[in-house]
Amino acid sequence: MSKYLFMNVPAHGHVNPTLAVVQELVARGEQVVYYLSEDFRAVIEATGAEFRAYELQQIKEFMAAPKLPLPLFLASISGDVVDSLLEPIRAEQADVLVYDMMCFWGKILAQILDIRAVLMSPTYLNMREMSKFTNVFGGNGQERPGARVEPGEPGEPGAPSMVRTGAGLSGMNISPAFFAQADEQIEAVYRRYNLPPMKLRDLFFNREEDLMISFIPLSFQPGDTQLDERYYFAGPSIHTRFDGYGFPLERLSGKDVLYISLGTAFNNQVDFFNTCIAAFKDSPQQVVIAYGQRIDPAALDPLPDNFIARPHVPQLEILPHVSVFISHGGMNSTMEGLYNGVPLVVIPQMIEQDMTAHRVEELGLGIMLARDNVSVDALRSAVAHVKENEAIHEHVRAMQQEIRNCGGYKGATDKLIEYAQKH
Ligand code: UDP
Repeated sequence: MSKYLFMNVPAHGHVNPTLAVVQELVARGEQVVYYLSEDFRAVIEATGAEFRAYELQQIKEFMAAPKLPLPLFLASISGDVVDSLLEPIRAEQADVLVYDMMCFWGKILAQILDIRAVLMSPTYLNMREMSKFTNVFGGNGQERPGARVEPGEPGEPGAPSMVRTGAGLSGMNISPAFFAQADEQIEAVYRRYNLPPMKLRDLFFNREEDLMISFIPLSFQPGDTQLDERYYFAGPSIHTRFDGYGFPLERLSGKDVLYISLGTAFNNQVDFFNTCIAAFKDSPQQVVIAYGQRIDPAALDPLPDNFIARPHVPQLEILPHVSVFISHGGMNSTMEGLYNGVPLVVIPQMIEQDMTAHRVEELGLGIMLARDNVSVDALRSAVAHVKENEAIHEHVRAMQQEIRNCGGYKGATDKLIEYAQKH
């Protein structure tokens, strides 16, 4: 038996795919300790892992009103988290530390304490491709019309630190000074612990672990980077996590269902949901909207009879009934949709989702609708297009097959155990 330490950021999209892996490790007799914020205690303990709470309040406040790309913000808090967790993590005497791709302190702690580390990503492994979509980390953002780098100092009035705030960061332009500051913050932690300094952009782009697991299928990963046996594309980590949420699943049976969700993070968009209500109020489809925890239901327009709207729904149980999924392009939602053979209309809300929307179009799995172009007509024609387009259906079927042939959470668990035993 080996002892695995999991470290993650408090975001459902990052935590969800690890749950089945952790549960499977425990079922196979391995010891798992999971470090995360208190609000994840119940879901982690349900897997059988030991839970250790640590405070990540700053991240939650940030997610409620993001003003920077998440990696830059996480860089700014990594030093504090490393300092506070160093002794507890040392005391764990773990064999393997599994850290999420956004959990920079997990990587840094593994280096300081010389623990073997495994990278887990709910999304792409080659983040370099992201530089085509944004100037974050010095990329040129050439895929985004109008993307540009502008001068300015962090915090300086008028610095182009954010184009939009509060409802996502798609299309934002970031001053290079912010990257420099994030690099400096990360380098400072390495200096403090007498390690060779690393920059944030290296942590983000040049990850070098002996095992790196992604929860997408290989063909969804863009780019021509050489991938070797250290990379494992497990495909989505789908397992039953039905807790019902009191959702009337029986109202979906035998119906043609349109499902609309912007996920759990960048979802505070009441206007968008009201536009959806206007667009599909006379539709023969049964419409389900998961509008998230940040919207006051009273701010939604009156619901037509063919609508069910809830702050949170059992997405995995709903998707088998769905014919079109209007999504933000979060990777879990994208994969869960494709796993169920559902074509996608992707309305990206932040940079990684821009990349995913682009990938969905490139692979013929659906279409992208830019946030700024959302309207009643655009939504109607996007849904009609993906519903009727036979080529999209064929590509979705092929991708569904590939996904179902991936190793999933069991394959990821095999890899982890094999890795722990080999070392
Ligand atoms: N989810 C859910 N019910 C909801 C909204 C989301 O079960 O009402 C789940 C969904 O199945 C997925 C995750 O939350 O596993 C959202 O992750 P994703 O990567 O799609 O988006 P994020 O929330 O990270 O933006």
